[in-house]
Amino acid sequence: MAGAPLITLDRVSLTYPGATVPAITDVSFSVCEGDLVAILGPSGCGKTTVLRVIAGFERPTQGRVVIAGKSVASANTWVEAEHRGVGMVFQDYALFPHLTVIQNVEFGLRGSTRDSRQEKMREVLTLVGLEGFESHYPSALSGGQQQRVALARALAPRPAVLLLDEPFSSLDPDMTERMREELLDILERTGSTSILVTHDHEDALDMADNVAVLNAGQLEQFDTPDEIYHTPTTAFVADFVGQADFVPGEVKEGKVVTEVGTFENVGTFKDHTPVVVMIRPDDVSIRPCETAPAQVLRRHFRGSENLYRILLPSGQLLYSSESSTVIYPVGTNVEVHVEAIHTVVFPRET
Ligand code: ADP
Repeated sequence: MAGAPLITLDRVSLTYPGATVPAITDVSFSVCEGDLVAILGPSGCGKTTVLRVIAGFERPTQGRVVIAGKSVASANTWVEAEHRGVGMVFQDYALFPHLTVIQNVEFGLRGSTRDSRQEKMREVLTLVGLEGFESHYPSALSGGQQQRVALARALAPRPAVLLLDEPFSSLDPDMTERMREELLDILERTGSTSILVTHDHEDALDMADNVAVLNAGQLEQFDTPDEIYHTPTTAFVADFVGQADFVPGEVKEGKVVTEVGTFENVGTFKDHTPVVVMIRPDDVSIRPCETAPAQVLRRHFRGSENLYRILLPSGQLLYSSESSTVIYPVGTNVEVHVEAIHTVVFPRET
């Protein structure tokens, strides 16, 4: 269960010296104690900048950062990174190659007494499953093991907040799923409050309690993964967090009329407004029918599903997700049925 807000960003902006545009603008959100928040967005949208502002590696040009009730960055306050109670796992792990696993972890504990260091190191290495690897050097470890060392080093001082920058980007894709599980398990056991930066919507939807979607330095939406996926508030979010088609329609007598059906006018647009309805592949089912005007254009076999690209009579394209055993050849005429539990409508120009 979410606790009280532990981290708050209040209208934080940052323009790097010499830059003509801000890297982030007016970003506000809170992270509750024990929660995991994912900062999601395309490359260059400002995700790492947000993380670095929280860590204390960058000073915001405007706005305020509060950690555990204390202002750590604002117009008239500044707390250095090492005094913020924040642990960071860097994208490339930033392990010291000439130090062993235990020495790398010990580095995170500078300032502690020798006895408490020993105890914390033993505890944290058990937690991340690296007992027996104490005297190994990073070069002798797999990507997943190196990540666990970086995690152990960040967790050893028992930080109030753990920051993870693209934690899966250096791993093989087949390792990612396992590491997501492992990381969640470790974060749960330590009761950590964490912020994870990722460009991969699957990481964010799978792991986070809340997702902050950034676009060109601005926060587009901050919501639970379900809300982000099913009720995106902007076309950018809709498109970024999963496959989405935008089918044109028009508001008529309070409903949105499209060539694949009539939908609720959830945006309360006026009659005759040109709009688009967001439709996800899982909302679309198809059935072969010789007289139907829509056609299968392509079948993408994804293992657990078949993703069909359907050509509608108007020329509009639509994805349909069918089970892996439902196979229709290219060119099959199909009836298209759309059943969206959530209707999402945007003005046409977006
Ligand atoms: P992301 O993590 O989403 O890829 P970043 O936060 O790294 O994005 O970068 C956001 C923007 O700020 C980009 O346009 C990037 O080029 C710029 N930027 C990042 N770091 C610096 C820096 N140290 N100096 C100048 N510009 C930077």
